[in-house]
Amino acid sequence: MTGQVFLASRNAAKLVELRRILEPYVPGVEVLGLDDVEPYDEPAETEPTFEGNALIKGRAGVAATGLPSVADDSGICIDELNGMPGVLSARWSGVRGESAAQANNRLLLAQLESVPDERRHAEFRCAVVCCIPGGEEYLEIGVMRGRVLRAARGGGGFGYDPIFAADGYDASTAELTPGEKDAISHRGKALRSIAPAVAEALAAT
Ligand code: IMP
Repeated sequence: MTGQVFLASRNAAKLVELRRILEPYVPGVEVLGLDDVEPYDEPAETEPTFEGNALIKGRAGVAATGLPSVADDSGICIDELNGMPGVLSARWSGVRGESAAQANNRLLLAQLESVPDERRHAEFRCAVVCCIPGGEEYLEIGVMRGRVLRAARGGGGFGYDPIFAADGYDASTAELTPGEKDAISHRGKALRSIAPAVAEALAAT
């Protein structure tokens, strides 16, 4: 058993999170990210679903590294906007770079300005895949339901966290501690669901 799993991401926080979630299943597990492996052509995320885009990334990962490869894709889906921004979440406002999140939040708040509180339901969705050398593939979905607030609040989290409050919470997800958010988040749920399959794949390598 190698104890190594590849996560198709450069986000250090995601690498640490996956390691923390896998550790109870695979003590000593090593999570390698895109910066830890030989560079390879990373495919564009061209699918209209989170599942499709996660699979594109996971398949490219296992082909390039030969390691069990985990990949995720996520975003916010607003009921009133028929599930948008969805897979367009990261680039909803068209602004790139460091001010993208602020621009996305401002645009969404403006789009929902006339939408009353009882119709501001939304959810974060996350698809996580694990692609195993040899061709087996596992897929899990995690969902966090909640609502879009009327103004940004809180300095934690990232992306749409300042304008989203999970069901049962007054605080925005940007006002929760990382541990509080992990426990209820779409990504936390999906990663915890897929952890046993990743552990089994590692045990078989
Ligand atoms: P990715 O799957 O990490 O690339 O996330 C896509 C986009 O969805 C991000 O750029 C954010 O705009 C949004 N998003 C995904 N998960 C979260 C979250 O937990 N909080 C806030 N925004 C998120």
